[in-house]
Amino acid sequence: MTRILLKNIGTLHTCDDRRQVLKHAYLVIDGNIIREVDAGTAPDGVFDSEVDLAGCIVMPGLVNIHHHFYQSVSRAVPAAQRGHLVAWLKLVYPIWSRLTPADLAAATSAACAELLLTGCTTTADHSYLLPGARAEYVDEEVSAALETGIRLHLVRGSLTTFEDDIEQELTTRLGARAGGLLDDEQSVLADMTRTARRYHDTSFGSRTRVGFGPTTVTYRNMQFMRDIATLATEFGCGLHTHFHPRLDEREAAAQLPGGTPTGFLKETGWLRPSTWFAHSTRLNDHEMAVLGDAGCAIAHCPRMILRLGARVPPIHMYQRHGIRVGVGVDGAASNDAGSMIGELRLVPLLHRLAGGEGTVPHQEWIDPDDALDMATRVGADILGRTDIGSIAAGMSADITAFKLDAIGYAGAVADPLAALLLAGSEQRAFLTMVDGRIKVLNGSLCDQDEHRLRRGLDNAANRILAEAAQLTGVVYENYPNRT
Ligand SMILES: [Zn+2]
Repeated sequence: MTRILLKNIGTLHTCDDRRQVLKHAYLVIDGNIIREVDAGTAPDGVFDSEVDLAGCIVMPGLVNIHHHFYQSVSRAVPAAQRGHLVAWLKLVYPIWSRLTPADLAAATSAACAELLLTGCTTTADHSYLLPGARAEYVDEEVSAALETGIRLHLVRGSLTTFEDDIEQELTTRLGARAGGLLDDEQSVLADMTRTARRYHDTSFGSRTRVGFGPTTVTYRNMQFMRDIATLATEFGCGLHTHFHPRLDEREAAAQLPGGTPTGFLKETGWLRPSTWFAHSTRLNDHEMAVLGDAGCAIAHCPRMILRLGARVPPIHMYQRHGIRVGVGVDGAASNDAGSMIGELRLVPLLHRLAGGEGTVPHQEWIDPDDALDMATRVGADILGRTDIGSIAAGMSADITAFKLDAIGYAGAVADPLAALLLAGSEQRAFLTMVDGRIKVLNGSLCDQDEHRLRRGLDNAANRILAEAAQLTGVVYENYPNRT
């Protein structure tokens, strides 16, 4: 069994229930388990490797609870830079319609590498663009993610319905069933079953677990929502979907059993502690209370709010209602970046604007310690895991460290965590360890060629954009309203 010593740690945030912080600490890792964590001088002994973390802040590996890896083929596209959700989706769906299983693998490799390099050790991926419910998509994605070394919570998604009038427009432009993007419910349910049987591993320290969820709540097909919830119960999987009801969705829900969006979720069996929703930026007080009482959780993705000009969610209100809130980077098309530490740096800042200037009581502004808790202990709990999310003897060895020696930290001497989240501009972790294996050291991937991953995704993105431009006539490199 490999024995590793992480020594001379300047500051160690355990992120346990008491949020203990140790100074001048060390960690002993046996195989894939944390054996010792303490302050003081490291023990003598024989170690297979020792890593000196002087000048570093160390924390549990960050947990990303919302992403769409496939979207990495379409990041920073000028033509899609203006417009809220629906306008944006109409521009990007034709691009995504060209995605092959090999493209998904390239996007997954690059997205996971970026996450590891920015401190993330466990990631959910809401993977809902799997045309034809072909098994190759899921299998290629899981294989690519595992090769990078990250822990994966694959939310096997689906696209059986579109927002607003998107289906009509895409079918006109791309052909029948929105160019083949629209899923058939029975095929989706069959592949969800296959995926859970093959990849849902509930053992301690497992590298893959599975959840289920359509891209958005399908008010048009109540039975499908029920069937997914039933499958989740059968396999012990989590449920996940985008939930931030628009006016037209509220009107649709009013005609359905339950009478409201949350009533619909209750009727379909979705309100349970293993359900976490993405964004939920448009909840009223009653809906917050319903989600809180049911034990549901929310993935907060601050950069997506900025990118798409969405409503800033009142995180303090969610938490007051007992809703657990974790952090997600969201897909690279609604973020353009994919950095976990970059996302975490926005969490304390963006929240101050919720509801407009002066609306959030300053006593309830999220501070860096709260943000770190959301991205570690709380995120792990939302994914139903008790083996990751904090640093303690007996936990899985998922750890990240950031070195605070760059000029951007100069003068930020009062508190290393505040320095990291409020002052820093460096994105790369000094060390990222997953399951006892060092995957990033000194800001570089240890066993993957970063440049090869980059080329692989660039090639896929170039081909996909060219094909989409031919289909639609859109000049993707131009900003809208400019020639
Ligand atoms: Zn999303």
